[in-house]
Amino acid sequence: MEAKLQTHVAVDLNAIQNNGLAIKALTGKQLIAVVKADAYGHGAIPVSKALHTIADMFAVATVQEGIELREAGILKPILILFSPLPELSTEIVANNLSPAVDNLDLARRLSQEIAKQSKHDSNGRIKIHIDVNTGMNRCGVHYTQASKFLTELRELQGLKVAGIFTHFATADEEDKSFAHIQIERFASILPNVSDIPMKHVANSAAALAIPESHFDAVRPGLSLYGIYPANEKPIQLQPALTTWKAPIGWVGSIASGEGVSYGLIYAPSDRKHVAGIQVGFGDGYPRALSNIGEVLIGGFRRPIVGRVCMDMMVVGLETSDKVSVGDEVVLIGRQGNEEITLYEIAEKANTIPYQILISIGKRVKRIYS
Ligand SMILES: *Cc1c(COP(=O)(O)O)cnc(C)c1O
Repeated sequence: MEAKLQTHVAVDLNAIQNNGLAIKALTGKQLIAVVKADAYGHGAIPVSKALHTIADMFAVATVQEGIELREAGILKPILILFSPLPELSTEIVANNLSPAVDNLDLARRLSQEIAKQSKHDSNGRIKIHIDVNTGMNRCGVHYTQASKFLTELRELQGLKVAGIFTHFATADEEDKSFAHIQIERFASILPNVSDIPMKHVANSAAALAIPESHFDAVRPGLSLYGIYPANEKPIQLQPALTTWKAPIGWVGSIASGEGVSYGLIYAPSDRKHVAGIQVGFGDGYPRALSNIGEVLIGGFRRPIVGRVCMDMMVVGLETSDKVSVGDEVVLIGRQGNEEITLYEIAEKANTIPYQILISIGKRVKRIYS
């Protein structure tokens, strides 16, 4: 179906490649490209294929996400960022995924599975990365226990400790003092792990703003997609999701005394021209923008009036606006001299750009260039 007849986003894979190269040039380190949550809504498979010669490794959150990349023919190492349940060891080994490991139950199950399936690297081993908790306190081996944990791991057959990592809680804040405490905690275990080839800490915010966190590899997600996680902008990133558009499905006018959409919370005092746009929170457009957000029509900003519904929302028009069914409405991107950015939408919806991107739904067609 033609893109302009339905809600769609344009994704510029070239921008993602350029962002990956720019981050590598800035840091001078290996690149672990984070493509979890369907590459932040951009499409994990096309994005991973576009980055295949640029990324040294891919990272996802779940075993299922890793399997989908393997099935799509991605051959590079795939890191599972969160220690998976031990029951998933069969799939992890069968697909040669590299899980984060923070407990011995998982390590033992993986070791048994390797013996059973006897495959993978030339030595019959699977690569794992130790997740160290230095203060985020949501997963990982506590940094004070990490050396002991490694000693226990080394007794297990079939596991190759290929990496050790931690994750920042506050790298995107102006005050970097806790990030530096986390770096110190991580560094305190390094004398005991000099044989582990890949030490990695930096998410996007740290890759861009905390050089001491770069170690052997950086692990950015958001910045690959051209969005800055914080105020620091040491390099020019190109937004990859360049536009989000939806068609006008209805044009009408409301008589005074009538309201609009669920709850009729918008009720103009005078006759008002409006357009129904074929997009809603079922596509991931934030319902929080009810009566608050704006879109671009004919090159002008026009207000969302009434509640954003699941499949539709209504926009107020000026009498001079000449619009018809099928006209393109810009939710994100440029039209004429106006632009609505992802940052603007996230701020008005009282959330972060990550959540807006990741919420863009399945039925929103992705058009790649
Ligand atoms: C999501 C995630 C990242 C990437 O974070 P960004 O802020 O998107 O760069 C890196 N490491 C871990 C452990 C993550 O969960």
